[in-house]
Amino acid sequence: MPAFQVIHRDEGLTELVLNLIADPRTLDQPRTIVFALEATPVKPLPPDFRRTLTGLGNTHTFTGGPGSYSHLVPAYKGSQRHPTGWDGAWTPDGNMVNSPFPADWDLNRFFNLELAKTGKLYLPYQTLNYTHLTRQLDPRTQGLEGPELWHIIGPEIECKGNGGWCMTPVHMQYRLYRYRDWIRHSSLRGFYFDNAYPILCADRGHGCGYALDDGRIQPTFTLFNMREFYKRLRTLIVAEGIEPCIMTHSTDTFMPAAYAFVDVMMDGETYRYRVPKETAPALAPPAPGATVADADVTAAAATDTDGLAAELIAAEAAATPEAREPATDPAPWRRYWSEYWPPEHFQVFGPPQHWGIMAVTMAYQKHGEEAPADQVARNGSAFLAYLLLHDTEYYLGASRGARLSQAGFDLAEEMRFLPYWEPETRRALHAPAPDVLVGGYQQGDLLLIVAFNRSRLPVRQLPVTVELGALGWGEAGARAGVVEFPKDMKDRGEALAAARRQVLAGGEGGTGGPAAGGGLAVTLDIEPHTFATATILCVPAERK
Ligand SMILES: [Zn+2]
Repeated sequence: MPAFQVIHRDEGLTELVLNLIADPRTLDQPRTIVFALEATPVKPLPPDFRRTLTGLGNTHTFTGGPGSYSHLVPAYKGSQRHPTGWDGAWTPDGNMVNSPFPADWDLNRFFNLELAKTGKLYLPYQTLNYTHLTRQLDPRTQGLEGPELWHIIGPEIECKGNGGWCMTPVHMQYRLYRYRDWIRHSSLRGFYFDNAYPILCADRGHGCGYALDDGRIQPTFTLFNMREFYKRLRTLIVAEGIEPCIMTHSTDTFMPAAYAFVDVMMDGETYRYRVPKETAPALAPPAPGATVADADVTAAAATDTDGLAAELIAAEAAATPEAREPATDPAPWRRYWSEYWPPEHFQVFGPPQHWGIMAVTMAYQKHGEEAPADQVARNGSAFLAYLLLHDTEYYLGASRGARLSQAGFDLAEEMRFLPYWEPETRRALHAPAPDVLVGGYQQGDLLLIVAFNRSRLPVRQLPVTVELGALGWGEAGARAGVVEFPKDMKDRGEALAAARRQVLAGGEGGTGGPAAGGGLAVTLDIEPHTFATATILCVPAERK
């Protein structure tokens, strides 16, 4: 039984059940349990948030290393100089350095401004729960640093019982002091905080932990201090007149109260590879056609993120039926990724509308227990479908964004997300197949239908009915039809105009059809654990 249960009893009534005692026991004296409700309003999302997400990626976060994005900026091509200095750089012995200040302030500012011209975000890599205590190189980084600093403040920061740095007031002040100077000088929109999970600490001197009846100290998390840290950091960025973009890598720790002032939370990385390597059986060699490499950090550094997006889409297209055939081995990692990962996980963590925080995920990161290429090919389509169906982006490449752009959508503008689990969506889009998840996006006159077959059987000639009235397209005289945009669409306006002509010319037996009061049926063929899409364009009466 879970510790917390949220039960919807009735329309407008939700019960929160707290299961406080995990096993049968007798309480021999009164026990006081104090509750607090941390009410967290949901931030409004910027209308262009999906475009913002396409500007993220390791290559311009882990700056400084050989082959990083810094080398794609012409001024640094071939240079051994690190534009950002210590932040996110790799030392010759392979350790990453992540102190909260740049080595060279001017190079750092230049790098950020150059990158912004390409629509990419420079979010210097930091770890929330420690730094490497590097000494400053630029004299403008004033004050103590390195071991001398740690000698003074270490005891007030070091976590007792769990390793790492506790988010104590001293720790918070130190970071905010450094970050304020860095933001002010380099015009940073934010940082990428890795290891941003809360850690346990039992140091009563920090204000952490509490005494149990028997005298033992129960450690506690510093969730409220994390919340305060991000809130104050956000305030510093706003005070500089900059739109913040604070990102955390928070796999399995999506806690809206602690992260309320964060803009992007990242899930994933190791969650697909939890089976220990030594117990994993050897896989058959990759099937012909399944040649897509994992998008690891090295690959990311060697290419640009748009290339990676294309790679994921190519993986989805290139997977042969053989490559998609799951092994009969019951080990979870040999099953389809989408069998292993229930959609309910993504229904909670994915949609940014829940939290006011944009979500990204990193399922294809290579990390020790790599998935072989054939598994990637087998699962590329399922992964991309999950991104599309949960309004989530792939952190290492703008896969979801690229798909929406291909369907004629403008990422800079607002669009309506249609979650497959919402009754409202089911009124607008329905298909007579329980294992097919049907959702999508609507923007102006465009609708993208995403249909994912979460079963091991192919689905043939599936009729998906689009209720035009439920999409606000039911007016008399309107026409709607399935359209396709050229792969290499140059001018979106022109492509939309051509698509409108296509719908109007459709007529009987064509792609167009009367919209008023009716539905439009789209037929789809979908292989096991892959998805199909269709783009519908509605031409209102006055546009004809
Ligand atoms: Zn502590």
